[in-house]
Amino acid sequence: MRPDDGQEARVTTPDDTPQPACPICGKPASPSMKPFCSKRCADVDLQRWLSGRYAIPGRDEDALGQDDGTHEE
Ligand SMILES: [Zn+2]
Repeated sequence: MRPDDGQEARVTTPDDTPQPACPICGKPASPSMKPFCSKRCADVDLQRWLSGRYAIPGRDEDALGQDDGTHEE
């Protein structure tokens, strides 16, 4: 059901569009790296995913390199 192209096609909210937050660091996601803000965070997530998959006990965050929280670009 598409009555007329041009009305329902664009449902972009003007100013209320909540930027999807990066699940890693919480920053606004980059359009090209969704849902992450950067490749780095995408890698981190991948590592976490792999870590979970291989079930490495106890050294999840360690393997990712020190995350001091302020070392983001
Ligand atoms: Zn991030």
